[in-house]
Amino acid sequence: MATNQNGGRSAGSWMGKLYGSATEAKEAAAFDKARRAVAQNILNPKEVVGEYDAGRVLMTTLGGEVRPISADDLAVFRQNIRTVQRHFKGGIRARQVLDMSLPVDRERAQREIRMAVPASASNGRVRFVTNAGPDSNVSRHHVAVEFMSYGAAASAGAKNPKQAANWLRKQPLKFDCDCGRHTYWFRYISTIGSFNAGRAETGFPKIRNPNLHGVGCKHVLRVMAEIESSGTVLLFLTRLLERARNSDENKAVLRQTQKEAEEAAKKGRVRDIKTTEDRRKAAAIARERRALQDAISKAPKPKKLTAATRRAKPSAAGFNAAQIALFKSMGLSDEQIALAAAAGSK
Ligand SMILES: [Zn+2]
Repeated sequence: MATNQNGGRSAGSWMGKLYGSATEAKEAAAFDKARRAVAQNILNPKEVVGEYDAGRVLMTTLGGEVRPISADDLAVFRQNIRTVQRHFKGGIRARQVLDMSLPVDRERAQREIRMAVPASASNGRVRFVTNAGPDSNVSRHHVAVEFMSYGAAASAGAKNPKQAANWLRKQPLKFDCDCGRHTYWFRYISTIGSFNAGRAETGFPKIRNPNLHGVGCKHVLRVMAEIESSGTVLLFLTRLLERARNSDENKAVLRQTQKEAEEAAKKGRVRDIKTTEDRRKAAAIARERRALQDAISKAPKPKKLTAATRRAKPSAAGFNAAQIALFKSMGLSDEQIALAAAAGSK
């Protein structure tokens, strides 16, 4: 596998041949399983609940420094586990994954992981392929997503396949990624939170993530953003459900052709990775901008919209510097600001 030096290379080069990518995903999973089987220093569930032999001297980074695990640490671990489990009761929605992710993972997803396409599906289990980050030693990653409401969506109801697909992508799901970040930081969380779609991880992440923070790596975040809003995913799920409805047992297998996938990757715009809070802020700014532009368009035009008005310094026209900065951040021109000030002074 060629090293990918640039996350922004053309679709074809990072995507490689989709034919055979399922085998590659399987090999990665087998490698991970073998590595885990011989791993030393795993803090297992029995130990977390109290059967820990201090003679093992396992280490943790809880509190910020590497040091041996104490009985108090185990109590904190148990508390962190309870917190995660309170949040999740089987499955997690794409929106929740984005909302509960760490800022650092969102930034990486935004900057480095620009593309994710569905490669194949077997019933509710869909395999996505994403490009890899610039420091990766592989050119792509495999993210598996299990849509938990597939059965309900596939059963022909009042909804047509497209409506059902649109509903399905907002329902709880499980996921898995083959990267190190998912394996060492998040797989334990998805396991105890019951939204893991790969190998279960029972070893507490005492070194990498003892606080159990975050939920998805950059590849998973890119895939979740696509699941939530991309037309490509909607079309793919629609075709899958159409196929399922033509089968007596709701069974469907679907493979994206190389051409389809490359075209989808090429033409799909790169979505911003946004939390619900980010969206709310953007919507509020857009609302204010619309209201202001509306007010300006309705305001009676000053009799003399003259060179004098255009020359007029907005700051002298009733707005303070902070207000002017706000208007500018909303994309208003000096002239529009001056007009608003003139309208307000009538
Ligand atoms: Zn990943």
